[in-house]
Amino acid sequence: MSVTYTPVIGLEVHVQLKTKTKIFCGCSADYYGGTGSDSGFAAEPNSHICPVCMGLPGTMPVFNKHVAEQAVKGGLALNCKIHESAYFSRKAYYYADMTKNFQISQDDLPIAYQGYLEIIGDDGGVKRVRINRLHIEEDVGKLSHGASDGRLEGSSYSNVDYNRAGMPLAEIVSEPDISSAREAFEYAVMLRRILRYCGVSDADMEKGMMRFDANVSVKCSDGRRSKRVEVKNMNSFRALERAIDYEIKRHTEILEKGEEGIKETRHWNDAANSTSASRVKEALYKFIVEPDLPPLRVPREWIEKEKKELPEMPKQKWDRFRDSFGLSADDADVLTESLDVADYFESCVKSGANPARANNWVRTEVLRAANEGASLSNFPVKPESLAELLTRVEEGKFSTTLAKQIFELMRGGKSLAEAVKETGASEGGVSADKLSETVVKILEANRDVIDEINSGKDKNGKKVKFLQGLIMRELKGQAKPDEAEKVLKERLGI
Ligand code: ZN
Ligand code: MN
Repeated sequence: MSVTYTPVIGLEVHVQLKTKTKIFCGCSADYYGGTGSDSGFAAEPNSHICPVCMGLPGTMPVFNKHVAEQAVKGGLALNCKIHESAYFSRKAYYYADMTKNFQISQDDLPIAYQGYLEIIGDDGGVKRVRINRLHIEEDVGKLSHGASDGRLEGSSYSNVDYNRAGMPLAEIVSEPDISSAREAFEYAVMLRRILRYCGVSDADMEKGMMRFDANVSVKCSDGRRSKRVEVKNMNSFRALERAIDYEIKRHTEILEKGEEGIKETRHWNDAANSTSASRVKEALYKFIVEPDLPPLRVPREWIEKEKKELPEMPKQKWDRFRDSFGLSADDADVLTESLDVADYFESCVKSGANPARANNWVRTEVLRAANEGASLSNFPVKPESLAELLTRVEEGKFSTTLAKQIFELMRGGKSLAEAVKETGASEGGVSADKLSETVVKILEANRDVIDEINSGKDKNGKKVKFLQGLIMRELKGQAKPDEAEKVLKERLGI
């Protein structure tokens, strides 16, 4: 009998909480947008620092209450319970990216605990991944190794930028309920979606606002289990998926050899597409209660208020979009990916657009335009105007081709009325006279095609479609396609 292998995976996700200032000082949290880096979006190194976030002796941290609000909101969105009374601890941390040699974090009383998040599991059903905790902590600075200016090429030295030190983070720790790289990917995507929906984090990967660590081991059906490793340094969904796949394969091979591996920390190397054992031995972290900060109190009224203000969550929206608008799973997925797209679609439908048509247009025209750089919040075509346009298509007043021309003009800032006028369309489309006139004109110019149709060669109706296309083009798409087809077929006597 052959044995089977089951991966056991838990994720630790660090997410930057969206606030105006850092967690324990008044430094601006908005350190992107400057001109200090090659990529053009990071501020000058060490331009957003002060003695507090530098951890200089004699400084005192002052807690930014907004961080707790964001953490509570995030915790509630992840179905967590909230500790009304929590506190901060110092976690011993000896490394150059944190000058004070400790990180302020939370130990045994995290602000939020025992929640869950739902994903589509590998068996196609809804799977609940339990969340052990969500705690608040400060971020550390950023090290970059090697010579960035070429002066010390080949030598080993490091730059340190403390702009990130003291940025507020939520660390979200799942239970080991994830069974594959695909499920881990689903979990991470859903987590980001939820946090973005409630405005807790922008979770922009490229700016390092969401980072993953994974705990991986593999269970064998004969009862053996490989030693758990912690894989660090995944900064994208793809990297997370590939790192886990790599580890599952490695653990399975270890078990097949009759071994169990070693408990260690490993680093994902994206370029090499593999993990390697970390040179730093995993230290046993010691916590002491932070003496410079008072206990963290979260009043009950506050929790209730945040609970009431939570927006509809992505999963619920997804279900509702499918049920009430008859969308496919894939359509619902695209439309609920971000809140502004979901809102845009829904306002369009509420303004009278047919849901299937609105879905079609949002997925193609609107998202295409948005991907070209237009953000939906200030997208020139308001959902109400799109709804009006689509209603006219629905009523057969405009063809899709014409509607697309009008949409393009509206994207350029024209109102619906102005755009309609500019295309020369009339509300009623093309008059019956104009239509039959055009049909005759096209038929006269294509006598050879008529002969082929009459001799029975047009078995699948392709020639008729061809003529219909010519008519539509001649009328610049302003006729209703089925109307044009009807008149054409009458003329042809078929
Ligand atoms: Zn500071
Ligand atoms: Mn952490």
